[in-house]
Amino acid sequence: MNERGVLIIVSAPSGCGKSTILHRLMQRRDKLCFSVSATTRKPRAGEVDGVDYFFIDREKFDRMVENNEFLEHAEYVGNCYGTPKAAVDARLDAGYDVYLDIEVQGAMQIKRQRPETLMIFVMPPSLEELERRLIARGTDSAEVIRGRMEQAKCEFEQSKYFDYVVTNDVVERAADEISEIIDRYKHEQNKN
Ligand code: 5GP
Repeated sequence: MNERGVLIIVSAPSGCGKSTILHRLMQRRDKLCFSVSATTRKPRAGEVDGVDYFFIDREKFDRMVENNEFLEHAEYVGNCYGTPKAAVDARLDAGYDVYLDIEVQGAMQIKRQRPETLMIFVMPPSLEELERRLIARGTDSAEVIRGRMEQAKCEFEQSKYFDYVVTNDVVERAADEISEIIDRYKHEQNKN
């Protein structure tokens, strides 16, 4: 029988380099899979439906909430995001570690239901650096960037509820640190 995988939440204000971290972790680790969320946000250039997100409308999102299809869901800067439950459990049961890239309200919902979840918060080196990265990405209007910066400040406050806080100074280093945290966590779990 496969050992059940570990549920890993990596939470960070958007623009913190999470997608690069994920990419590097995928290269480094066996049996790690990314949970594709559903969102009502419109796709950004280059985003692929079913790969980056399931892009759905509000009506479908509300129906999924009603049918209890989400492990957690939350609203973030005017859009809804949710983690499809069945897909996550199927992967965990198959022995995969499942990586959730979600914001803090959703992270807290999962921690309450599943306290064994490994919770990692990624910090940008500074607020100035975060703003610089959001502007450099060139995908959001000034107003959206302002909203995301405000949200980021609230999220920093909540980093205290996470098991680990990793500073994303150099993205490769941050990814390596996260990978080591996962190894240690799995090792500890196997001992218990
Ligand atoms: P973005 O619009 O930049 O892709 O994501 C905005 C925020 O929503 C990010 O902090 C991201 O981690 C979070 N997010 C993405 N998917 C989910 C989800 O399924 N649930 C929750 N709660 N947050 C999500």
